Amino acid sequence: METVVSGIRPTGNLHLGNYFGAVRNFLKMQENYNCYFFIADYHSLTTHPNPKDLHGNVKQVLAEYLAAGLDPEKSTIYIQSDVPAVAELTLLLNMNAYLGELERTTSFKDKARQQPENVNAGLLTYPVLMAADIIIHQAHKVPVGKDQEQNLEMTRKFASRFNRIYKQDYFNIPRPFNFGDELIKIPGLDGSGKMGKSENNGIFLAEDPKSIRKKVMRAVTDSGPTEPNSPLSEPIANLFTIMEVVSKEETIEFFKEEYSKCSIRYGDLKKQLAKDIIEFTTPIREKIEAIASDEQYLSKVAKMGREKAMESAEKTVREVREIIGFRPF
Ligand code: AMP
Repeated sequence: METVVSGIRPTGNLHLGNYFGAVRNFLKMQENYNCYFFIADYHSLTTHPNPKDLHGNVKQVLAEYLAAGLDPEKSTIYIQSDVPAVAELTLLLNMNAYLGELERTTSFKDKARQQPENVNAGLLTYPVLMAADIIIHQAHKVPVGKDQEQNLEMTRKFASRFNRIYKQDYFNIPRPFNFGDELIKIPGLDGSGKMGKSENNGIFLAEDPKSIRKKVMRAVTDSGPTEPNSPLSEPIANLFTIMEVVSKEETIEFFKEEYSKCSIRYGDLKKQLAKDIIEFTTPIREKIEAIASDEQYLSKVAKMGREKAMESAEKTVREVREIIGFRPF
């Protein structure tokens, strides 16, 4: 069975974009692959999070992914910093990662621009840590968004470079996961663009119904169709895109028809959309709350993940040390 590795940022709550864009694909992958999902708390240190917040952030993200359906019996779900072998492999890979190529990485240049007061070496070597995360489990496939494509290219480069330097066909060269048509972009409710953390326009799985309703009722619309069968403007198309993932087919049909007959009332459309979003998120929200307050369960899951991830990671590091030439006395 092929191995898939994917990291999860321990920042913020899951929004509908995360759910339909990433989590749902994780749920499919865990049925067919040997999956490692880790919460990337080493990576998060590049922005210097407050020590008081770090553990709580990790816990909340773990609870949300479990509530959304990640299954610790099917996948290895672990906390990155629970597996120090990742840090050792990063150190070893760093010796063959060159300053020039790291400086040229788009994600490094972006981050350096975003936080000019904190251009730390961790930002520069982020692609090396990411490579270690992936190849430490000999991953075959990695689900990556557009923004991570270049970093996966670096992972492939570091893995093949290691193989070349040591004249061994040791590391698998991981490939990007191809979702085909299944990749959907969930838009925001602000008229254009996607739903996102930095866009500050998310509807969250853990959000209470009142707040969801308020956000949906405030969604940007237009002045309404003026002639039959006119094309949808972007803000309206966005509302329909969200409907596609949470509403019943006949509901969508109904409002599309109302639109093409110019008799649509956006207030009704929004009320229905809010209702359907709430119906979708409520069971997940309740599960998040239950899991987040069950310390015993969370600690059991983390321990199980750590043990499985350690086994696979330590095996790789042991073999890499051997290849490099370290010998025990
Ligand atoms: P982020 O919340 O930015 O850390 O995103 C985590 C993952 O969620 C990304 O890699 C995407 O796969 C997915 N994602 C985030 N926002 C959206 C969106 N609006 N539509 C679809 N997928 C998204």
